[in-house]
Amino acid sequence: MVKTEKIEVRTRGNCDVVNITEQVSEVVAQSGVREATVMLFNVGSTAGITTTEYEPGLVNYDIAAAFEKIAPANGRYEHEETWHDDNGHSHVRASILGPSLSVPVVDGRLTLGTWQQIILVDFDTRPRTRTVICQIIGE
Ligand code: ZN
Repeated sequence: MVKTEKIEVRTRGNCDVVNITEQVSEVVAQSGVREATVMLFNVGSTAGITTTEYEPGLVNYDIAAAFEKIAPANGRYEHEETWHDDNGHSHVRASILGPSLSVPVVDGRLTLGTWQQIILVDFDTRPRTRTVICQIIGE
């Protein structure tokens, strides 16, 4: 069975870390699958998906601080010369994090660790509404 659903995620931009675990769990539960893989894909090139422990230190400080070192917001980006915009760092950060995540589903449940949550990180420089494709492959 292959089933494709979408979830919508509102963000504040600027490295906003949004916990989407509950929305993904709901999509999996409603699909009725028992053994499967759910593949999540953010549509757009300035946000990414991964997992983390969703606690204030990581969510509000540490993840943003790490990306600020890798691709500083006030750095110089050729992308901004091309389009005369301000989000070169957003694109670089999103490329490094990656747009997708696959999670195994066993006995109808996501196999996440106790402190492991699925997050969307929005690197763009303004609030956005994101679409995440959830494609479930299994039975
Ligand atoms: Zn741009």
